Amino acid sequence: MKNDGFIGTKMNITKKEVKSYLQRLYPFCRSISGSGLRETLAIIKEYIPIYLKELKTGTKVFDWIIPEEWHIQGAHIKDPKGKKIIDFKKSNLHIVNYSIPINKKIHLKELKKHLYTLPQIPDAIPYITSYYNRDWGFSMTYSQYKNLNDGIYEVFIDSEIKKGKLSYGEYFIKGKSAKEILLSTYTCHPSLANDNLSGIVLSTYLARFVSEQKNYYSYRFLFIPETIGSLAWLSQNKKNIHNIKYGLIVTCVGDSGNSTYKKTRDGNSILDQAAEKMLIDSKEPYKIITFDPADGSDERQFSSPGFNLPVGSLMRTPYGQYREYHTSEDNLSFIKPKYLLNSLDKYLKILYILENNRYYLNCNPHGEPMLGKRGLYRSFGSNLHLRGLNKAFMWILNYSDGDHSLLDIATMSNIDFQVIKEAADILHRAVLIKHANKNEPA
Ligand code: ZN
Repeated sequence: MKNDGFIGTKMNITKKEVKSYLQRLYPFCRSISGSGLRETLAIIKEYIPIYLKELKTGTKVFDWIIPEEWHIQGAHIKDPKGKKIIDFKKSNLHIVNYSIPINKKIHLKELKKHLYTLPQIPDAIPYITSYYNRDWGFSMTYSQYKNLNDGIYEVFIDSEIKKGKLSYGEYFIKGKSAKEILLSTYTCHPSLANDNLSGIVLSTYLARFVSEQKNYYSYRFLFIPETIGSLAWLSQNKKNIHNIKYGLIVTCVGDSGNSTYKKTRDGNSILDQAAEKMLIDSKEPYKIITFDPADGSDERQFSSPGFNLPVGSLMRTPYGQYREYHTSEDNLSFIKPKYLLNSLDKYLKILYILENNRYYLNCNPHGEPMLGKRGLYRSFGSNLHLRGLNKAFMWILNYSDGDHSLLDIATMSNIDFQVIKEAADILHRAVLIKHANKNEPA
């Protein structure tokens, strides 16, 4: 049995469930293709019915080409004494993502050309990729690097780069309208928690919740490798892109930082207004930043001028702005289920606003209607909630002129959107307001 009209904004997900889902997905060596990505999608499929799409190596997607698949079994470095000093089994960040296979003995001087470290965080292993430039390399902590002795080292990478497919997961939830809200998250990072396992986990629970509601909008959830995946998806869906009304990129949602909303390209969409109102209503500190084509995630593809879709992103601390970003310190202790659940709740509330935002007309526009004779005034007294409703009645009655949506009224009055929505429902039942045109979100 589905809830009617996106009524619920509360989900029953426990921190324990979130933790166990995070722990299941964390170990995989994901990349933009290959088995780590497929195994991840298979696990997501146990939670929500995503369908798998695959595009062949060599397929042209706009200015890009679907690359070959990368598979990695193992990798290590042995020091001159034969001791294994780096082992892929200990951290999949040790290997440069998309490294070509190698098995040889080389001098330290030569090896150093293929080593990556982060001197400013000496105990962290940096996350390095080389998707489109065939190379090999290892990442290690700067502390390890400093202690390397001169001599001959054995380097071994058991990887394979071959023709195959690029995989992504998609879950479409049909609503009353063909207009869609797109929620996209990327699945290509190996064992990194905030960026972006947190996004995968949040999207899964959000999709499950949305699928249990009776919605106005249709929803499309994408689990795609970053950049090449969004380009692949866009190239396959050119015909239906006009249906996307709003989109959100789900990333970096599990750290302890305040929420950050990155605006859409034009910055003035109803989605931007809804996200800002949700953040104000949360009464928690937050930050709003603008679209930046030089720094970002898949919104750069969805909002490229050829598509110009209004796609925002709700994060906590944005990628690149926390010390642990793209290092082994972005691990399961860096994020907390409670922050992830807080972010999930905020996503839900944005969708709640988008689903319930309406234009109304005051049926009785000459002066204030007498609320008392309709039984809408007597019970206020000292009840704070009812007094809040009374204030909301006045704002809604005054601004229900067909030009102001409930979200506009909530923003102007600084009353929580949920209170405005509840008050509008009461006024609507009392036939004091009517839908401005159709009963559809603004
Ligand atoms: Zn990243």
